[in-house]
Amino acid sequence: MEYSPKKIKELLENNGFNFKKMFGQNFIIDENIIDSIIRKSDILPDSLVIEIGPGAGSLTNKLAKVASHVLCYEIDHTLDCVLNTVLEYDHNVDVIYQDFLKSNVLADIQKYDYKHLYVVANLPYYITTPIIMKLIEDQIPVDKIVVMVQKEVGNRFKAKPGTKDYGSLSVFLQYYYEIEKLMDVSKHVFIPKPNVDSIVVSLEKRKNLYSVSNPKLFFQLVKDSFVQKRKTLRNNLKDYDLNTIQKVLNTYHYDLSVRAETLSIDIFIAIANALDLESK
Ligand code: SAM
Repeated sequence: MEYSPKKIKELLENNGFNFKKMFGQNFIIDENIIDSIIRKSDILPDSLVIEIGPGAGSLTNKLAKVASHVLCYEIDHTLDCVLNTVLEYDHNVDVIYQDFLKSNVLADIQKYDYKHLYVVANLPYYITTPIIMKLIEDQIPVDKIVVMVQKEVGNRFKAKPGTKDYGSLSVFLQYYYEIEKLMDVSKHVFIPKPNVDSIVVSLEKRKNLYSVSNPKLFFQLVKDSFVQKRKTLRNNLKDYDLNTIQKVLNTYHYDLSVRAETLSIDIFIAIANALDLESK
């Protein structure tokens, strides 16, 4: 089916579809926004695109035109009639009706032949962070993620040290990806209209990863450093070798009274590497 917001709305109505707030269902009904997302995703040929939450298939329909394959995960089975109609001629799209968070994505993508892997989605807001963390923790080899997210959450992704949005999520994501805001999206382009504004962000895998000797220790250190955001490192990292941490901090002109929100990713890496070395 050729996309048009009018047709999608009619289709949803004709199928007696009820929007489910608990699944974060806010569907895009502005074709310009969808076209911009597709354009800015810059999808190369020979690619597999994973879409989390195709909804009524507005984005899916256009992804199918630029990607070799599109693999969708949709939690809401009642969308199957709508999706079957919208995607009737898109034979390169597969929809798996299950919770993305419980899916074995690595096993699922093995069935495809592709050179580049993307995630492109208008994410359900209630699980934005768990979805992104799953992509990292399951080590899904994604080259680029382009996602529409709640503005506040997107701001956290790319936040710099010393700003209120900076936290462990910012450090984790910036460790793996170059992050860029692609556009603002008004709440008026969705049905039903959400309470918050959105942005589209791109997370592109870093060509040169940071050099961390023990990634597990690094991630735990970052998590623990931010566990109580208003507390100092001395308080949050009581169980660590504080002498070693102090020495590293001194080289950056800080001491243990500093808060995690001040420290750049390079400083966290220096601390983690020093702790790892000391433990050997
Ligand atoms: N892509 C569509 C669009 O842009 O119009 C719909 C986006 S809507 C914000 C989020 C979609 O994610 C809904 O279709 C919802 O049912 C689906 N969803 C919510 N939780 C999910 C989960 N855990 N796994 C897979 N899909 C989920």
